[in-house]
Amino acid sequence: MMLDLLQATALLLALCLLQGVNARLHKPGSVAATLGAGLIYGLACVAGMMMPIALAPGVIVDPRSVVLSLAALFGGPLTGAIAATVAGAYRLALGGNGLTIGLVTIVAAVLLGLAYRRGVAHGWVRRAPLSLFAFGVLTHFISLLLIAQVPGQSLSRMFDTLGLPYLLIMGVGTALLGLLLLDLEERLATQRALMASEARLRAITAAVPDLLFVVDEDGRFVEVITRQDELLAAPPSALVGRRAQEVLPAPQAELVHQVLGEALASGERCSVRYALDTPAGHRDFQAWVQAMDAPFDGRRAAVMLVQDITQNVASEAEVRMLAYYDPLTELPNRRLLTERLERAIVDNARSGEHGALMFIDLDDFKNINDLLGHHSGDQLLRETGQRLQATVRESDTVARFGGDEFVILLAHLAEAEAEALAAACHVADKLLERLGTPYRLAGLDRVCTASIGLVLFNGHDHTADELMQRADLSMYEAKRSGKNTASVFDPQMRAELATRLQLEAELRSALGAGAFAIHLQPQVDACGRLIGAEALLRWERAGHGMTPPGVFIPIAERAGLMPDLGREAMALACRELARWSGLPGARDLVLAVNISAAQIYQPGFVEEVIALLARTGAPAERLKLELTESLLLTDVERAIEAMARLREMGIRFSIDDFGTGYSSLSYLQRLPLDELKIDRAFVRNLPDNANSLAIVRTIMALAEALHIRVVAEGVETAGQHACLLNNGCDAFQGFLFARPEPVATFEARLAATSRAVTAQ
Ligand code: C2E
Ligand code: MG
Ligand code: MG
Repeated sequence: MMLDLLQATALLLALCLLQGVNARLHKPGSVAATLGAGLIYGLACVAGMMMPIALAPGVIVDPRSVVLSLAALFGGPLTGAIAATVAGAYRLALGGNGLTIGLVTIVAAVLLGLAYRRGVAHGWVRRAPLSLFAFGVLTHFISLLLIAQVPGQSLSRMFDTLGLPYLLIMGVGTALLGLLLLDLEERLATQRALMASEARLRAITAAVPDLLFVVDEDGRFVEVITRQDELLAAPPSALVGRRAQEVLPAPQAELVHQVLGEALASGERCSVRYALDTPAGHRDFQAWVQAMDAPFDGRRAAVMLVQDITQNVASEAEVRMLAYYDPLTELPNRRLLTERLERAIVDNARSGEHGALMFIDLDDFKNINDLLGHHSGDQLLRETGQRLQATVRESDTVARFGGDEFVILLAHLAEAEAEALAAACHVADKLLERLGTPYRLAGLDRVCTASIGLVLFNGHDHTADELMQRADLSMYEAKRSGKNTASVFDPQMRAELATRLQLEAELRSALGAGAFAIHLQPQVDACGRLIGAEALLRWERAGHGMTPPGVFIPIAERAGLMPDLGREAMALACRELARWSGLPGARDLVLAVNISAAQIYQPGFVEEVIALLARTGAPAERLKLELTESLLLTDVERAIEAMARLREMGIRFSIDDFGTGYSSLSYLQRLPLDELKIDRAFVRNLPDNANSLAIVRTIMALAEALHIRVVAEGVETAGQHACLLNNGCDAFQGFLFARPEPVATFEARLAATSRAVTAQ
C-alpha cells in the first residue's frame, strides 16, 4: 500500500508540475490555459484510475475525487468540466457494474469543487489547510455514500473496511494537493506582479530623458540606462563594471564620490553639479543620488539620475549677464557695482581699510556721438571701458552707469586715510592720462577726455547711495574746473549738494503752483523798431526773489523736470501771445519761446502745443520756438517730424545759440527753419576779434543761402550793433536795446510805442 500511496503522491506532484508549466505558458484566464488545465487534471484522474491504491485487501480507491474537486475549485467550471469529461470518458471505457456510480462520483466531485469555489468567492470559506482537509473529508464521504450504492457493496461493510483511514487519507491528500496548487497560484501571481512592475519600471526609465545609473558603494557603475549615449563619458559597455575614477576626469570623479558618500550615509537624496566634455561637446550636468534600500550584489548601492542642464546653465548665465552687466561694454552695471560697494563698505568697517569710489564722465562725449554717429560713440565707450579696466587692478570694479558715465570701485586701498587718498589720486591721474590719448574713430584720431570725481570711504558712516552722490558731485566739480581733471570730494561740496537737493525739492513743489513767470526781452529790426520778444522763464522763489534760469535749469535737467518746466513756460507764453491780439502795436509781434530737448522728444509734445494754442487762442503764426543745435542732433528725424507738423500750423522755428554746436549744412537744409540766432559768445567779441567776425560772416552767408533771417543776441554795445549791421544782420536782441523785463513793463513799452506811432 505504501507503494500505491507513493505512486499517488508522485502523480499529484507531477500534476502540480504540469499545471505550473501550463500556467506559465499561457496567459492567465485564456482559453488555452483553461483547456490545458482541464486536460492535465483529466489525465491525472486517468493516471490515478490506472494505478488505484489498494487500501486493504480487496479495497481499491483512486485519487480522482481529489483531483477533480480541486480542478473545479482552482480552475473553475470549464476546467472542471474538461477534467470531468476526460475522467468520465476513461471510466466509461473501463465499464463494469460500478460505471454509473463511478460517473456520478466524477460529477459529484466537480460539483463539490465548484460549490467550494463559490463559497471562497463569497468569503464564506477560505482555502486554508483545515478547510481543505474538511472539504476532502466531505467529498470522500459523499463518494463513499455513492460507492455504497454499487450493487454488491454495502455501506456498513465499506465503513468497516475503509472507514476513517480512507476519509483521513483522502482529506489529507486533498489538503496537500490544495496547498500545493494554492502555493503554485500564489507564486504565479507574485511572479506576474513582479513582471508587471518590472515592465512598468522599464517603461518609466525609458521615458526619462535623463541618464540613469546604478552605482555601488565603490563608485562602480553597475547599470547604465540611457537613450543618449553621446552624453556619457564613455559608451555604456565601457562604463559598466568600472569605477567613476577610471572613466571620469579626477575633479568630476571626486564630486561623484562625495555625493555618493553623502547619499549613502544620509539616506536622503543628494545632488551635485558638474561639467564634462562628452562626445556631444562640453555639457553641464546635475546629478541626483538616492541610496537604494536593498543591496546590489551584496554591496550598498545608489541610483544616480543625471540631467543635462547645459541650456539652463547658459540661460542662467545670460540672465545674470543681463541683470548685472552692461550689454555694450560688458562691464558690471549699476546694480552689480552697488552690491559690491555695499559689501566693500561692510568689509572696510571691519578691517579699518579705506576704499575709493570714482565717478567718471567723458567730456563732450555728446559731440563725438553727434558728429560721428552712434556707431563711433559705441566704439568709443567700449574702448573707454577697456582702457579703464586695463588701468586698474583686476580686483577693482569698473562699471558703466549708462551714457558716458563710468564708476570705479577701489575697494581696499590702505588703512591710513592719507595713504589711501594718495593711492586713489595716483590711479585717477593714470586714468586721466590713459583716457586722454586719442581714440581712432572713423579713420580719424579723436580725443575725448574725462572728468573724475573721487570719494574715500572706510565704514558704515555712509551708505552706498551717499557715496555715489558724493562722487557724482565731485565729478561735477571737476567739470566746473575745466574738465580733464579729477576732483576729490570735500565738505564744501556737501554743502552744495544740500543746497541742490533743497532747490530740487522747492522746484518740484513750485511746479504747477503758479510760481513761474516769463520775462520778455524785446527784439528789434535794423531801424530799432520792435519786431517781437523772447520769453525767458523766471522763478519767483519764496525768499529769493526772481531766480534766473541759470540757477534752476541745470537742477531741473538733473531731476528730469524739464518737460514740466517747459510746459509752464509755453503756457505762460501762449497766454501772453493771446493777450497781444488785443493790445495796440502788438498784433504783428512774434513771441519766441525756448524749447528743451526733454520737451520736444516727449511723446505727445505736438498734440500738447496744438491743444494749448486752441485753449489760449494764441495765433500759431506768431509763435516761434527756439531750439538749440545739439538738441536737434539727438534724433534729427524725430525732431524734423515734430517740427514739420507744428510748421503746418504756422509755428516758426529758430536755432538758438547758433555756432556753438555742430550743425551740418545737409541737415540744416532739411529742417523747416525761419531763423538762426547768433550766439552772444561771438557777438561779445565784435568788432575787433577776427575769428568771431569770420564766424558771424559765415553765419550770415549760410542764412542767405538757406533764405532764413538772422537775429544777433547779446548785443550790448553800439560797436557790436554797427558791426552786425554792416555785415547784413537786421534783427537784434540784447541789453543795448532792452533787458528781459516783466510782462507788465513790456506791455507798457508797447503802449508807449503805439502812442508814439499814433502821435507821428
Ligand atoms: P537763451 O535762450 O540764449 O536766452 C538769452 C539769454 O541771454 C537770457 O538769459 C538773456 O537774459 C541773456 N541776454 C540777453 N541779452 C543779453 C546781453 O546783451 N548780454 C548778456 N550777457 N546776456 C543777455 P536768461 O534769461 O538768464 O536765460 C538763459 C537761458 O535759459 C536761455 O538762453 C535759455 O537757454 C534758457 N531758458 C530761459 N527760459 C527758458 C524756457 O522757458 N525754456 C527753456 N527750455 N529754456 C529757457
Ligand atoms: Mg533763447
Ligand atoms: Mg541764446
